[in-house]
Amino acid sequence: MNVYDSGKMLDVLGDSHGMEVTHDIDEADVLLMNTCSIREKAQEKVFSELGRWRKLKEKRPDLVIGVGGCVASQEGDNIQKRAPYVDMVFGPQTLHRLPELYDQSNEQREIAPKNRIGTIDVSFPSIEKFDFLPEPRVEGYKAFVSIMEGCSKYCSFCVVPYTRGEELSRPLDDVLAEIDSLAAQGIREINLLGQNVNGYRGEKDDGSICRFAELLHYVSHVDGVERIRYTTSHPLEFTDDIIDAYAQLPELVSHLHLPVQSGSNAILAAMKRNHTIDVYINQINKLKAIRPDIHLSSDFIIGFPGETDQDFQDTLNLAKELNFDHSYSFIYSKRPGTPAAELPDDVSFTTKKARLAEFQKVIIDSTLAKTHEMVGTTTRVLVEQVANRHPDCLIGTADNTRTVMFPHDVEKMDELLGKLVSVRITDFVSPHMVKGELEDVLA
Ligand code: SF4
Repeated sequence: MNVYDSGKMLDVLGDSHGMEVTHDIDEADVLLMNTCSIREKAQEKVFSELGRWRKLKEKRPDLVIGVGGCVASQEGDNIQKRAPYVDMVFGPQTLHRLPELYDQSNEQREIAPKNRIGTIDVSFPSIEKFDFLPEPRVEGYKAFVSIMEGCSKYCSFCVVPYTRGEELSRPLDDVLAEIDSLAAQGIREINLLGQNVNGYRGEKDDGSICRFAELLHYVSHVDGVERIRYTTSHPLEFTDDIIDAYAQLPELVSHLHLPVQSGSNAILAAMKRNHTIDVYINQINKLKAIRPDIHLSSDFIIGFPGETDQDFQDTLNLAKELNFDHSYSFIYSKRPGTPAAELPDDVSFTTKKARLAEFQKVIIDSTLAKTHEMVGTTTRVLVEQVANRHPDCLIGTADNTRTVMFPHDVEKMDELLGKLVSVRITDFVSPHMVKGELEDVLA
């Protein structure tokens, strides 16, 4: 989501002020930091990085510094109290107002260069952001499309509902118009984005509501779209019509990221996830019956307050039973203002670290085994580029997100770029990369 938002920041400032990205900080006129507050460590990094930027600003007082994203949303004017040299503070829902904030901060600089106060806008102005974003401009063959924003699930550990606001879906026509425009620019793979992407409830022209499964059908019909991914979803909204879509839509990749967070029902209840492990396993089994080759990934929080040895064992057992392809797993991080921050926590940090290491070992072993299992099979690959270090090879991404490299006639490389092909996998290269031979061009 933050990668998508950063792209949009560039789009609005490029469109309004002709700004371009530079990777040389000494060349920059504006420094923007897009922040994440999902864990305490990410939040603290914001202030240490801002400390470095302060030194740059002392040397170059004209430098404009902006902080956006969820830390900005949560901390608001506290950012300027702790870092008064910050010129602009904006939230995820107000990034479209960046050009205005930039102009205001320049005006203030001219009026009162010494007593300048920064501009702050961390409001939640409904979903208007999308009405103000310029036409997407893309390179390559894959693009994100945000279809809904915010979250109304209020899991007890999570800050997102407070930093990004309640769930709001973009109207169906807006989403399809953006995807049409991307497909016309050569995009072949669409990654639908939302905090609870499968909770999408977009308004249709006639005022009725389009649910996520129906949206998948619409997207699959857009000319040029050959592959569809989505992230990130909630088990509560993983309804049977979405599972059925895997039988009906070959465009849907055989990879699902469905966060579960814990394998213990007691911990799931304390997290306020509102489902049990049986419900989750049932959903996965139904999906596996339709797509036996489905690859699964998930999110896990290890060491949630009150997690017993048995709770942790249940999480390990779940990982072993479902054979996750990979996972994002972290030690629980207390977020101020969330209900879980008030829960008693008697598990030592040493125990939590040991549990995380044990858990990650299970996942890493599973990733490795699954990559090895690919050898001898055929996989669908979106061809994206000529391999940098092997100019006689092309590189693309498989449904299960592995990078796939295969040799091809150097004279004919261009013909395959952006195409969906099938590749026979011949060799394991690394846990996330395999080698193979071209079998067929699919689309
Ligand atoms: S569903 Fe996801 S984004 Fe929403 S509160 Fe729970 S963890 Fe946070």
